[in-house]
Amino acid sequence: IFEYAPAPESRDVVDLKPSYGLFVGGEFVDGSGPSFKTVNPATEETLAEVATASSDDVDRAVQAARKAFDAWSGLPGGERAKYLFRIARIIQERARELAVLESLDNGKPIREARDVDVPLVAAHFFYYAGWADKLSYAGFGPDPRPLGVAGQVIPWNFPLLMLAWKIAPALACGNTVVLKPAETTPLTALLFAEICLQAELPPGVVNIVTGAGETGAAVVAHPDVAKVAFTGSTDVGRTIARTIAGSGKKLTLELGGKAANIVFEDAALDQAVEGIVNGIFFNQGHVCCAGSRLLVQESIQDELLTMLKRRLATLRLGDPLDKNTDIGAINSAEQLARIRRLSESGEAEGAERWSPACELPERGYWFPPTLFTGVAQSHRIAREEIFGPVLSVLTFRTPAEAVEKANNTPYGLSAGIWTEKGSRILWMADKLRAGVVWANTFNRFDPASPFGGYKESGYGREGGLRGLEAYLDV
Ligand code: NAD
Repeated sequence: IFEYAPAPESRDVVDLKPSYGLFVGGEFVDGSGPSFKTVNPATEETLAEVATASSDDVDRAVQAARKAFDAWSGLPGGERAKYLFRIARIIQERARELAVLESLDNGKPIREARDVDVPLVAAHFFYYAGWADKLSYAGFGPDPRPLGVAGQVIPWNFPLLMLAWKIAPALACGNTVVLKPAETTPLTALLFAEICLQAELPPGVVNIVTGAGETGAAVVAHPDVAKVAFTGSTDVGRTIARTIAGSGKKLTLELGGKAANIVFEDAALDQAVEGIVNGIFFNQGHVCCAGSRLLVQESIQDELLTMLKRRLATLRLGDPLDKNTDIGAINSAEQLARIRRLSESGEAEGAERWSPACELPERGYWFPPTLFTGVAQSHRIAREEIFGPVLSVLTFRTPAEAVEKANNTPYGLSAGIWTEKGSRILWMADKLRAGVVWANTFNRFDPASPFGGYKESGYGREGGLRGLEAYLDV
């Protein structure tokens, strides 16, 4: 399940259409808002025109989901499981196409789309298919009920994977969904809509509405949406929480992060270097749980930084469709500007900036792997989410100081610990205010593990058994 994904060869495996409509009630339909372009961030070429769903279109999608709800939720769980298994298998069969399209629309290296995103997407559908007929045994009482129509809004960093985190548990529990993908990466969600047709999923069980924030706001505010699941920035998460306060809708929020990756002097440093690189440069650092703050024990700072710089010099930045590429394109001009702004603030506040020699392609949106040393807790680059390939290095002397610094953030999504001492791992994991703590590894995901944050990183959990709770009245 986890390994299968044939190597994509070229972009010819995707059949790009010049324009895409919305997916409502099992059909592709026109949107009534003005269409928008989605571009390949590595080349700035337009990939396709995509429809914008107006609030009337969103209403039609919600009505389609409502109409489908009784029959879908009334199916025996084992029948719903068959659809989810079928979807998972089609995802595996069409893995190449999905990986290439994800890479084109997002800018991520094909190796990551192929080896991480798409296999995990299939794994989520397999995993939740397994729960669909066992909900009465999941510990939520004998007869947990689905909520109704789930309105789901997702970001652009893992377009397909975020879709899978949302749609697979919702459907397994008997809900129907209206999902809005991010405006810079709508294409794989629309390819997923085709997969729903291929799997003969009943019309209206999954609806995809494309557009920008206004379309998302219309989904969230719709009175017939019983549950809102949002992944994105903390600012928008706050707006959503305010919008639906008092409405009785259930809400889960998966928001930003500023994770500490903490390296002790007794750690296996070769492994730690790999974990640091993976932690912040995977997916160009467009990762909510990215290890964007390196906390290194003072005694090994020089040695670790020398090793890290040597490793960064080997990273290959460039064409995301090249199987050897480690660092792809930044998803949008807007995100690139944000990364630049925050990096400039780092220099202005007195931190020292370093990047390996690295030629950036002329067209497209690119940012080199970047390291800041001499970072103080008060610097913006130590506090704000950069969401790019930029690592801020801080130091500590004692485990207690490491905990204090790691927790000194409004976020609390994840953290990493590198040490050979098991007792220290347990002590630290207990003290760190983070939803996920990795030890001697980083960015490991499994559909059976719940994921989610403390503090301003949001609330609710996605994945695993906990992920079912968000879609059930228990
Ligand atoms: P964003 O908040 O700008 O947008 C996310 C989605 O919300 C998009 O689909 C957007 O169109 C929509 N949206 C915007 N305004 C809205 C509104 N008022 N009402 C409803 N929907 C609205 O975030 P982004 O820039 O796309 O993504 C980056 C952020 O996502 C980062 O902060 C990152 O940490 C976070 N993220 C969190 C997780 C997690 O699991 N915690 C996972 C991935 C990304």
